[in-house]
Amino acid sequence: MMARPQADSAGDGALVLFSGGQDSTTCLAWALERHSRVETLGFDYGQRHRVELDCRAKLRSGISALKASWAARLGEDHTLALGALSEVSDTALTRQVEIEIGEHGLPNTFVPGRNIVFLTFAAALAYRRGLRHIVGGMCETDFSGYPDCRDDTIKALQVALNLGMETRFVLETPLMWIDKAGAWQMALDLGGRALVDLIVKDSHTCYLGTRGERHDWGHGCGACPACKLRAQGYYRFIEG
Ligand code: ZN
Repeated sequence: MMARPQADSAGDGALVLFSGGQDSTTCLAWALERHSRVETLGFDYGQRHRVELDCRAKLRSGISALKASWAARLGEDHTLALGALSEVSDTALTRQVEIEIGEHGLPNTFVPGRNIVFLTFAAALAYRRGLRHIVGGMCETDFSGYPDCRDDTIKALQVALNLGMETRFVLETPLMWIDKAGAWQMALDLGGRALVDLIVKDSHTCYLGTRGERHDWGHGCGACPACKLRAQGYYRFIEG
């Protein structure tokens, strides 16, 4: 028998998939509000927007400064190198090609099954760390139709992981049914204007990895699909 993971004292620990983007930063605040111990995980797979990974430390310290309770709950940060992903992808994230929408209506930034790989590694780490909840920013509502972001994919994976590791993980996706305007609103509800400002200033979503000029909604090229979506959501949020 493999040793079972040590549950933390409240059995309530969480591991947040934390890329340094708007969505995962909102998920981190969401988890800090709910769980007694929260650790973060980033993946380095040769993506062009490595700048996202560089934003992570700033966001972690910024979010800790917003609430004493969040600072007390925020635990270790982990980074896993998954270079093999870039070997099986042929996309704008990992090669210097234009972002375009291909057949099936998916942008060529799509790395097939990426979130399945991420969540599986996250579960292995969570097992070792004794964390029961795994939190990710997958969203079915907005954008792209990535099939590995679908609620059914996540639920099926939760079953597979729990069978395969003989444990009881709960995969939590707080953004699943809200759009980008809703994600900004969630940040406001969780951490007030200070959290919204932190996300605007220090999170990174742009596919081109450009920090670029500072727009109302944050830094980025302003023209790629990720920037457009983030900008549209922000303006719907402040007008709403
Ligand atoms: Zn952009």
